[in-house]
Amino acid sequence: MKIAVIGTGYVGLVSGVCFSDFGHEVVCVDKNPEKISMLEAGRIPIYEPGLDALLSTNVEAGRLSFTTDLRAAVDGAEAIFIAVGTPTRRGDGHADLTYVFAAAEEIARALTGYAVIVTKSTVPVGTNRKVAAIVRTTRPDIDFDVASNPEFLREGAAIDDFMRPDRVVVGVESDRAKGVMGSIYRPLFLRDFPIVYTDLESAEMIKYAANAFLATKITFINEIAALCERVGADIKAVARGMGLDNRIGNKFLHAGPGYGGSCFPKDTSALARIGQDHACPMQITETVMKVNDAVKRRMIDKIIDLCGGSVNGKTIGVLGVTFKPDTDDMREAPSLTIVPALVGGGAKVRVTDPQGRREGEALLPGVTWVDDAYSAAQDADAIVILTQWNEFRALDLSRLAKSMTTPKMADLRNIYSEEDTGAAGFTAYVSVGRRDSFKGELFQQSQEARPGRSSLSGTV
Ligand code: NAD
Repeated sequence: MKIAVIGTGYVGLVSGVCFSDFGHEVVCVDKNPEKISMLEAGRIPIYEPGLDALLSTNVEAGRLSFTTDLRAAVDGAEAIFIAVGTPTRRGDGHADLTYVFAAAEEIARALTGYAVIVTKSTVPVGTNRKVAAIVRTTRPDIDFDVASNPEFLREGAAIDDFMRPDRVVVGVESDRAKGVMGSIYRPLFLRDFPIVYTDLESAEMIKYAANAFLATKITFINEIAALCERVGADIKAVARGMGLDNRIGNKFLHAGPGYGGSCFPKDTSALARIGQDHACPMQITETVMKVNDAVKRRMIDKIIDLCGGSVNGKTIGVLGVTFKPDTDDMREAPSLTIVPALVGGGAKVRVTDPQGRREGEALLPGVTWVDDAYSAAQDADAIVILTQWNEFRALDLSRLAKSMTTPKMADLRNIYSEEDTGAAGFTAYVSVGRRDSFKGELFQQSQEARPGRSSLSGTV
């Protein structure tokens, strides 16, 4: 089958590469000529583990190509995927559909025969019908169908998610379109991955509901973490005890500095606006957004407390700035709130990230970029772990502590413990939702009641 994918970003590129690996003939289109030149030269414009190898294999096999020429790509394609960005619209929080509608019009003008126009971008309910209306108005002479095929891949694990999905959701309204979509995903169907066929509106809603639910789960555990600090409970034990319940599950129960990334912030915002527009407020989602903002602010306070009430003049090493490990994506990363607050408070901030520098340099003015955690810690007053990259999971803590002016750590991903860091020579350690993080009366009482326990956090 010949497939065109419009938009060669995180989703379009991964989808195009994986479709070609299924055996389809795929042309990936982007209007950004630099991206296309890089791809034609066999280089990947994003960081996604395993993507370069899979791309080369399929280019060499003659199944995958790249172009800026949408017309040529659409010519003869049986399915055309729209995978362009749907960022938050400035000013009102809605999804900005400018790119989707522009792509729909360009596709319509380029159509040479029947095709299924598939929206893979995350779009509000009703968008596929608008896409259909645009195509019908632009090309009343051509027979076509639309389909909604939201994408659920996670950056950093995108290929595995695409090749081994929990489910594929397809919204279609004709048997012909269903047949085309079925043929595209046949390799997954043959391996028993479920395909959920539904109507257009339900497919569009599934994506927003799924993302809002996941954002809620993360935010819930972050809020419970704040209470754990107050009452002297340990969020890791609490999350484990909750997560072993099959009805709850253990995923998305890791307390941290708040959710970020290219999807949750914009999709929760869009869902809240859709609810308002339909006089059906999404109160849970709206609260989740507010709590998530508060979580990030709480992290800033934690770092300031760790530094003795002010970061002014302090040197702080920040480990990790991408919104999660294994991606270079900086969109809405918690670091974009936390690091500027430290810089604004007068700190000298040294930043390291295995993949974040290329994007991060423009987004985090006033910081110094260094190559690794040890350079970030050199003569620092504190280090802050913001992203749980593997290379930050097994640091030589003694080496870090020895190189610092005051060995203090804010571990916002709960990688280490008070005991590990104390034994390595750190004089202060704070994390999220654990006893070390609370300095009040209850904590003192619980410390007294637990003889032999390090009193490290009392020094924070
Ligand atoms: P992105 O910004 O990385 O990529 C979008 C690409 O589309 C850009 O390269 C841009 O140049 C290109 N483009 C825009 N208009 C075009 C046009 N008319 N013709 C050709 N190219 C055009 O975006 P992304 O992260 O891949 O997200 C795409 C969509 O997928 C969004 O709706 C997003 O919500 C959704 N989604 C993203 C993820 C994720 O993890 N990134 C996961 C699931 C769903």
